[in-house]
Amino acid sequence: MPGTDVVVCGAGVAGLAAAHALGTLGLQVVLVDKQTTLTTAAKGEVLQPGALEILRDWGVLARLSEHGALRLSRLVARDRFGRTRMALDYDRLPGATNWLLAQDHQLILRSLAEGLPATVQPRRGVLVERAGRDDTGRVTGVVLRAGGVEEQLDARLVVAADGVSSRLRRAAGTSGERTDYPHRLVALDIPLADADDLAPDFTAYVTERGLRLCYPLPGDRARLYVQTGPDELRGLDQAALLNWTDRLVDELPALAVFGSGLAASLATRQTLPVSRFIASRLATPGLALVGESGHVVHPMAAQGMNSAIVDAHQLASCLGAAARDLGPAEVDTALARYHDTRRPDLVHIGQTSHNAARMLTDLSWLGRTLGRRALHHTGANPRLRDTVMHNMSGLGMHRLTPLDRLHQIGVLPDPRAGRTPDWAPPPTQPPTPRTESPQPLTDKP
Ligand SMILES: Cc1cc2nc3c(=O)[nH]c(=O)nc-3n(C[C@H](O)[C@H](O)[C@H](O)COP(=O)(O)OP(=O)(O)OC[C@H]3O[C@@H](n4cnc5c(N)ncnc54)[C@H](O)[C@@H]3O)c2cc1C
Repeated sequence: MPGTDVVVCGAGVAGLAAAHALGTLGLQVVLVDKQTTLTTAAKGEVLQPGALEILRDWGVLARLSEHGALRLSRLVARDRFGRTRMALDYDRLPGATNWLLAQDHQLILRSLAEGLPATVQPRRGVLVERAGRDDTGRVTGVVLRAGGVEEQLDARLVVAADGVSSRLRRAAGTSGERTDYPHRLVALDIPLADADDLAPDFTAYVTERGLRLCYPLPGDRARLYVQTGPDELRGLDQAALLNWTDRLVDELPALAVFGSGLAASLATRQTLPVSRFIASRLATPGLALVGESGHVVHPMAAQGMNSAIVDAHQLASCLGAAARDLGPAEVDTALARYHDTRRPDLVHIGQTSHNAARMLTDLSWLGRTLGRRALHHTGANPRLRDTVMHNMSGLGMHRLTPLDRLHQIGVLPDPRAGRTPDWAPPPTQPPTPRTESPQPLTDKP
């Protein structure tokens, strides 16, 4: 029976990251994906500092930059008039990688794929049919299918990176309920007449009809995600679609910056469902889950790819440098450690992303009122604002307490609001002054 140290199932961001992390340990890795080419879906373009530091160690950050990735310096929530409600200035974070990076999803995949260690053997057009098991039920490999031919591949470790509908997760019997959000996101890829029209920010606009998320992309383009009802665009002809974009601009004048590019982007629009989920276990004997096979969050807080990269890094850390010499019992001990150390952080990331999503997308009267209050009180409270930013960046985890949540919605005043968290630069070092964006993206006085 052919065998390898590790088989990674799925070559999205999670699978490619796992192949990097485990290949770097010197393990022989077979990386399979059922697709013959890289996806062109709008599946996330923004990377956080914590993931970027890992990508730098793998040599991937340099490749992303060679492919023209853009640095974004702030995550800003604004109201429909363009006024700032909360601004997370990433240059207040510690370390050299204190910015976000925007790159096309396909180029993120390509940058990861180009620099894989020599011990990784990528195989495309190969479907993972099921897991192979021994008499005790331990996962000992996978059954693959390529060109109508079935093949059994034994492995000391199987990594499920086969996305949200993961066959391997279901086969492993790990439970967890997936909850769909009641809205969709329409992804628009907008050509910019002048790239300087758009500030280098990740901007979330809160409007009466929900979230509009916008940031620049390489190649003088912008990404705009528009929250819609499930059937809002279904069956609309071209004239009705143009009316829809006109209404977007009426409701949010900042979008006028896109001019005719907004209508031009309709031809390539994608409508994406959004959901959240976390598996009850991230590992069972012989099998680890990474990325969306194990957890899914709302895209609003740009956490999905980043968590997938950290999963892979954490899994490799749990196996350790001696991974090549580990037997099944030691591998399973490392997998248990991976579950124990990683899942609590993912639960917190899931909760934070869900809170952020509710704050910006809930259209009920109560939801919008609480959302506005939370944005205002978090934005005006340096301690909470910087803590939220640090958590989102992936550079550390400082859990918010129930009391913090009450401060966030302004139910209780926070006597510690001005206290700078330990990791932040001392108050004597003001954040680097930055130029505000040109009209209409600037604050109103
Ligand atoms: C609209 C939107 C915007 C987002 N924005 C961001 C963002 O800005 N920042 C961020 O960090 N995250 C973002 N995300 C989340 C991010 O895209 C995902 O978390 C991440 O891409 C998941 O990667 P993955 O590798 O786990 O899964 P996938 O990308 O789904 O990869 C799974 C792979 O497994 C393969 N596969 C599946 N089944 C099999 C099988 N049986 N056999 C072989 N191969 C198989 C598939 O072909 C695929 O290539 C966004 C998501 C969406 C929907």
